Parts: sequence; C-alpha cells; structure tokens
Amino acid sequence: MILISACLAGFNVRYDGGNARRELAVKLVALGQAITVCPEIMGGFQTPRRPAEICGGDGKDVLTGRATVINQAGVDVTARYLAAARQVLQIAQDHGVTVAFLKQKSPACGTHLVYDGHFSGNKVPGMGVTAALLARNGIEVYGDEELTMANLTPYLAPETIKQLGTNNLAI
Ligand code: SF4
Repeated sequence: MILISACLAGFNVRYDGGNARRELAVKLVALGQAITVCPEIMGGFQTPRRPAEICGGDGKDVLTGRATVINQAGVDVTARYLAAARQVLQIAQDHGVTVAFLKQKSPACGTHLVYDGHFSGNKVPGMGVTAALLARNGIEVYGDEELTMANLTPYLAPETIKQLGTNNLAI
C-alpha cells in the first residue's frame, strides 16, 4: 500500500485552506492503491491555520529533541507534530505501507526540503517530522515532485499500471 499526503489527493487541508492536487495521487486513491493522511489535521490543527516551521534543525532533529516546531505566532507546536507523526506511522504499519509520497517543504511531510525556521521563505535540506519518523521505520519516502509512473512502477501490479494510464477513471 502507498501513503500519500492528503493535500496531494485534492483535500483542502493545507494551512491556507487549499490543496496541492496531483492527478496521479487522485487516481491512486480512486483505485484503492493509496491511503491519505494529513499530519497537521491529525495533530488537531484547523484549516486555515498559521503556518509552522522547524527551528534548529529538521524533522530528524525534532524526533531526538534537538529541534522544535514553532508556528508563525511563536507558539511551540512540537508535541502536536510528534503525536501526529506517531499516528501516521501506526496507520501506515496497520495498512502495510511500504512507500510514501509526501508534500515537499512541509514541517510534517517534507522529504528533502523544509523551511529554515525564520518564516522568510528560505528552504534548507531536511525532512518534516512525519516523513522522518516513517523513514526511520523503514518506509521509503519520496517528495511530491517524485510522484511519477517510473517511481510508482515497483510498487504496483501491471494491471494497476495499465489502469493509471487511462483517462476514464471516475474521479
Ligand atoms: Fe497536511 Fe502534509 Fe499536506 Fe501539510 S503537506 S496539508 S501536513 S498532508
């Protein structure tokens, strides 16, 4: 099973109330090949909400207590991000998830890039908290820019690959 950030599947769960819809993500869910999660919603945040960034490192550092997640009002929301990451990991393990495609740059979902903690738009190499916990537990994590047929092929049956190539799915 594949895990996908809910905003990539078209759910309006981003901090600004929007989504980051990718047709391939929507099709995977429609075919029952992927499940979706939004760690920020699972962490108890509402939509819309203040953006948050990791300060002092990345998600791997948050897992070890060396960095924190702070929202734009200066509130420490680290505990919520950690609790959500644990929930996502449990769901992934319950569903036999082996690979995740997650929204880049998010403090929860980022896989290769996150913002630098200064709310200045600067990005630094690193992972979000949920992505880091999934990776630490042996789940392959990719960014949304890597959500391609080539990267999906090892995880899908030939029949599913054929279905993904059609444009007549009821989505
Ligand atoms: Fe939710 Fe992750 Fe999308 Fe942010 S990037 S809205 S935490 S699914």
